[in-house]
Amino acid sequence: MILTILEHDRGALDSAAPEALAIAQSIAQQTGSPLAAALVGGDEAVAAGLGAYGVQTVTLVAHDRLGSYIPEAWGCALALLVEKLQPEAVVAAGTDRGNELLAHIAARTGLPLAANVTAVQSGSPYRVTRVRWGGSLLEEAELDGSPALMTVALHTVEPAAAGASLSPAIESFTPELDERAFRVRLVEQAAAREQGVSLASAPVVVGGGRGVGSAEGFTLLEELAALLGGAVGGSRVVTNLGWRPHADQIGQTGTRIAPELYIACGISGAIQHMVGARGSKQILAINSDPDAPIMAKANYTVAGDLHEVLPALIAEIKKAKGL
Ligand SMILES: Cc1cc2nc3c(=O)[nH]c(=O)nc-3n(C[C@H](O)[C@H](O)[C@H](O)COP(=O)(O)OP(=O)(O)OC[C@H]3O[C@@H](n4cnc5c(N)ncnc54)[C@H](O)[C@@H]3O)c2cc1C
Repeated sequence: MILTILEHDRGALDSAAPEALAIAQSIAQQTGSPLAAALVGGDEAVAAGLGAYGVQTVTLVAHDRLGSYIPEAWGCALALLVEKLQPEAVVAAGTDRGNELLAHIAARTGLPLAANVTAVQSGSPYRVTRVRWGGSLLEEAELDGSPALMTVALHTVEPAAAGASLSPAIESFTPELDERAFRVRLVEQAAAREQGVSLASAPVVVGGGRGVGSAEGFTLLEELAALLGGAVGGSRVVTNLGWRPHADQIGQTGTRIAPELYIACGISGAIQHMVGARGSKQILAINSDPDAPIMAKANYTVAGDLHEVLPALIAEIKKAKGL
């Protein structure tokens, strides 16, 4: 069996789950193994929906102390499930949580983990292509372990389509966890600032960098994003300067975005920033320096002061919308 560990929230699969399922489907096809999934604390409706991806068996990991995300306890529970099911391979999305959980499973089982893979060839050993160094290097590696543990680099593979009409068998697994698994506990959860649409899934992202000049300068970006039904993000400089919260950071150490359109304003285009924006279908860069690195990476460029360009753009969009 190929086991996919999937994230979900309030009755919906995480948006990265179909990417993990795509790689899991590919391994299942190569090996002729059935596709299975595990959801920690998942509900039956989410589990049933996985039949659309060809998943034949879903295990709901049920434990009254796993309601909130506790990395060590979840990792321990999933390692016990892997031990029980003995899958051929275990796949999760390369989200912060997916990477953390698979690292726990790898540590507990003593197996190697290939993080952030983009392609897999099954065999003995498995051959994987994986993203390294913040996206600046693609590595061909051998993965010699059974089960083969891997996470899928975000926004690098075509998500699996939900086209099948299977009814998966739904099973429950209650792990026996000792007190040590709960050394790290969740003590408080702070809701993220409501932004309407999340940065990771927004169809349009308006990003601001040092060139925006101040926290107040982001009002223009907020207005443009609102007109386009998008979200506002920023570079690490703006989060370091306190102009935006860390949750708004795009990049290697922030959120990876994959919008239809990324409008990058006053951002130079450092590699660590672009790693987080590489899933964008189109990039429009607005920068006063025509030689800024981002101008060579964007599909469309406007060389000019964003404080002049953005008001003009907003006025045109409002006119076109009859506002
Ligand atoms: C380990 C590591 C991890 C990192 N992770 C991240 C990350 O996740 N995300 C990230 O963003 N960075 C990250 N960085 C930082 C990254 O290297 C850059 O320093 C950062 O992205 C630069 O931010 P910036 O483009 O806003 O600023 P700058 O590089 O200073 O660029 C500002 C740009 O604004 C333009 N500009 C100035 N005024 C105007 C104006 N009025 N109108 C239009 N354009 C104007 C300038 O021409 C310039 O191109 C990381 C660095 C390291 C070492």
